[in-house]
Amino acid sequence: MRWSKFFIPTLREDPADAEVVSHKLLLRAGLIRQLSAGIYSYLPLGQRVALKVMQILREEMNAIGGQEFFLPALQPAEIWQESGRWGAIGDEMFRLKDRKGTDLCLGMTHEEVFTTIARNEVRSYKQLPQVWYQIQIKFRDEARPKSGLMRLRTFIMKDAYSFDVDRAGLDKSFVDQREAYKKIYQRCDIPFLIVEASSGAMGGTESNEFMTRTPAGEDLIVSCPNCGYAANQEKAVSRLAAVTDETGPAAPEQFPTPGVRTIEDLITFPGGAEAARQIKSLVFFATIDGEQRPVLVLLRGDHQLHEIKLADSLRASAVRPAQPEEIRELLGAYPGSLGPVGAREKHPALFIIADNALKGRRNMTTGANTDDRHIRGVEVDRDFKADVWTNLRTVEAGEGCPNCESGVLEVFKGMEIGHIFKLGTKYSESMGATVLNQEGKEVPIVMGSYGIGVDRIITAAIEQHHDEDGIIWSQSLAPFDVVVTITNMKQDDLRAAGEKLYEELQRAGLDVLLDDRDDRAGVKFKDADLIGIPFRITVGKGVAEGLVELFNRKTRSSENVTMTDVVSQVQRHASSSS
Ligand SMILES: [Zn+2]
Repeated sequence: MRWSKFFIPTLREDPADAEVVSHKLLLRAGLIRQLSAGIYSYLPLGQRVALKVMQILREEMNAIGGQEFFLPALQPAEIWQESGRWGAIGDEMFRLKDRKGTDLCLGMTHEEVFTTIARNEVRSYKQLPQVWYQIQIKFRDEARPKSGLMRLRTFIMKDAYSFDVDRAGLDKSFVDQREAYKKIYQRCDIPFLIVEASSGAMGGTESNEFMTRTPAGEDLIVSCPNCGYAANQEKAVSRLAAVTDETGPAAPEQFPTPGVRTIEDLITFPGGAEAARQIKSLVFFATIDGEQRPVLVLLRGDHQLHEIKLADSLRASAVRPAQPEEIRELLGAYPGSLGPVGAREKHPALFIIADNALKGRRNMTTGANTDDRHIRGVEVDRDFKADVWTNLRTVEAGEGCPNCESGVLEVFKGMEIGHIFKLGTKYSESMGATVLNQEGKEVPIVMGSYGIGVDRIITAAIEQHHDEDGIIWSQSLAPFDVVVTITNMKQDDLRAAGEKLYEELQRAGLDVLLDDRDDRAGVKFKDADLIGIPFRITVGKGVAEGLVELFNRKTRSSENVTMTDVVSQVQRHASSSS
């Protein structure tokens, strides 16, 4: 490929609206252009990288027995209604009607379509296991699309699905995928960690998220440097220091607390309590099976609620904080004076869910469900009962590891680069995908679902490998293996030498970009650094002695090499690092 003919619209300056490094570099190096919010076009250089990623995904999926499909992006509402997700998924789904008024959607994932194929075609355990995958465009109506290719409204995914006759089969399929994912990230040179995560709208029993640690990430990862425990903060647990409570009064006592509205107010109020001795009481509405239900959420005063944990614990499709007027209607008081004692008597349908850190606590202080009044001496289980005890609090750095004795947890930013789910029989039961097992009994197929975003891989690779001059592609993802830069197009000997190398490198099976533009050498070097090709061969004045310069983009080292040796040297580098 000749640079003079190839469309690489590089930019000198950082685009004003780009915040994260990958977004800036994707635009500056001419890989992508924005069409509208969360919608991008891949330009030729970007497409070359995307195709490299897809090839790696294909090879690793095929290596574990995956069979490639290509399913429609446009899907009928009917199958989503069967699975129950037409109602369960909210505004994130792009929905439309055809000319007859029939409901359709643009697929955000393909469990329903693959399950439809399986239920129509697979009859017997003898046809299982199956591993099916595709590389497809997906759609998601993100509330706040941003950061270049990180949060998109249309994106490219490799999604795979496994179909087994039983749990043991699923366990094996899940491990196969996890191992394949490890190989994919290794080949793409992206450092990763595997974390426990919430399954969210996918459902199922277990999921692993693949994360790469980067300040550009939007997730928080909780990890133990001592034992390797790692979890998304939305799922993480921690071990707290034991608390010994003094014995309180025989019954709780109400007391006036004029003007006290917050945990902090009550700490400093005379006769109040330190935060760890308070019961924080929050009212939420949870959408469960399409219905909004009031929930009283209880936490220790110094702990913060993680809303995803709340939604997961309740198996709710959404949760939202109740408005002050709704709260007053439910409990007879405004926020700031709420508490669990007597709450259910005020509203029998109220569901009370409490964080484990409150278990067994005595002599606690909380709101009285009367404005400007609190109660002290509250004992858990004596003065109120929770419907569910669970893990609701946000784990913070410095808390104890749940997995080992001495570990202290760290919290850092990470970006999700893959997610694998044990779906179990959620889709096969709701959609009626069954097979006859070995005993001739009809059983639902046991499924798994496994996704990797192509755009995410590209983003992560750039976030992990760049410097102030531009992108540093690994050989495996680079749009070209090598760029040949002719320093001065006006010199016939340099041009001839460059053309000769260009041909020889191509004949050696390498992807070569020949920088034959009529520009100053400095401009060409800057552009080559920016687009991040692993090797640059500079054809300059050394040519008179048969020498060219071989420049390594990653190490920034260069050496003079004879024109006869340079082809085999690049070839050796390319094959050893791919
Ligand atoms: Zn640990």
